[in-house]
Amino acid sequence: MTPLQPAAPTDLLIIGAGPAGLHAAFYAGLRGLSVRLIDVQPEVGGQLSALYPDKLVYDLPGSPSASAADIVAALATQLAPFSPDYRLSELAQTLTQTSLSQTERGWTVTSDRASYPARAVIVAAGLGALLPRESRLGGQHPDVRTVLVEPSAFKGKSVLIVGGVPQAVRAALDLAAAGAQVTLTHRRALFRGSPAQLRPLEELKREGQITVHAPAEPERLDEAGMWLRIGNDLRHIAADSVYVANGHLPDLSALQSWPLGWQGEYIPADATQMTRLPGVFVAGDVSLTGGDFKLLSVGLAQAALAANFAAQFVNPALKARPGHSSDRRLPQPADD
Ligand SMILES: Cc1cc2nc3c(=O)[nH]c(=O)nc-3n(C[C@H](O)[C@H](O)[C@H](O)COP(=O)(O)OP(=O)(O)OC[C@H]3O[C@@H](n4cnc5c(N)ncnc54)[C@H](O)[C@@H]3O)c2cc1C
Repeated sequence: MTPLQPAAPTDLLIIGAGPAGLHAAFYAGLRGLSVRLIDVQPEVGGQLSALYPDKLVYDLPGSPSASAADIVAALATQLAPFSPDYRLSELAQTLTQTSLSQTERGWTVTSDRASYPARAVIVAAGLGALLPRESRLGGQHPDVRTVLVEPSAFKGKSVLIVGGVPQAVRAALDLAAAGAQVTLTHRRALFRGSPAQLRPLEELKREGQITVHAPAEPERLDEAGMWLRIGNDLRHIAADSVYVANGHLPDLSALQSWPLGWQGEYIPADATQMTRLPGVFVAGDVSLTGGDFKLLSVGLAQAALAANFAAQFVNPALKARPGHSSDRRLPQPADD
């Protein structure tokens, strides 16, 4: 096997671009650290993007009500001025101690694509790597996918989308905008999505730009598409590609071999959020310090601690306490 090419070292490497990872990256950027984030998902936001982008969250401090997708967008916008290096659609697999120079020790995390040396690491892996559920459709078709990254690649092609989750609706809109011929089907009559997605879906359906069959029962795939049971009819839907959006399942197995003193699904840490390994910190749902309080507000607080203590670990001349952001002037989107 060809050895993976090592990337240039960063001060901080964060496993997981969910809310805890994004907020930790923001604080690390504020403290002057270079930051890289790895996530197996093709987009940032962790559970909020993968599991409930359409839901409203009511208990984020200072935010009476916001959709999970809007919370992710705000976290990413807040972090953008620090230009983190995002490595999406990559699964972090191993952690090894490494020499960064003759005098400096650090850690290398290896994913399925590359190896990433860093002076410090924050594990913000939440419930685990959010992997798409397998397609359980019977029969065979040459192009069945559970991840859809580049809608533009489907221009002029016919795509059948199976599922009722927000990702199915978003894929239908994106593919239609990219010039694909889209059919969307779901076992139930209703689709999940934000009003900003469901409204255009209705319009495109009315205009005949997207064909919707719901409720409809997938019967089986074949070489040319899929058989659907719609009421009492069995109808064949021709498709060049089939995208199955069945939601996601978390998987911690890649990280559980790391020697972090795991207690079940949690990694223990001290009051600075550092694990038993020097320079390896933890934040968010996977941190034992929050226990069963798997909440945004708890994970964001742990992220602030982990990032600031990681900053001091990387540069011992820094104070861990960041001071008040209100004493600074940071770039604002409106200032452009
Ligand atoms: C349906 C639902 C509703 C919720 N509602 C609320 C609410 O109203 N209020 C509230 O406070 N909380 C709510 N939560 C909980 C909240 O979403 C979590 O507390 C929060 O997402 C935890 O953030 P995190 O960054 O720790 O982890 P996550 O959001 O799980 O992000 C972790 C990321 O790490 C990635 N990852 C893990 N392992 C690897 C690996 N080996 N390689 C690469 N990537 C990896 C995952 O793919 C994931 O993207 C809700 C949760 C759910 C499921």
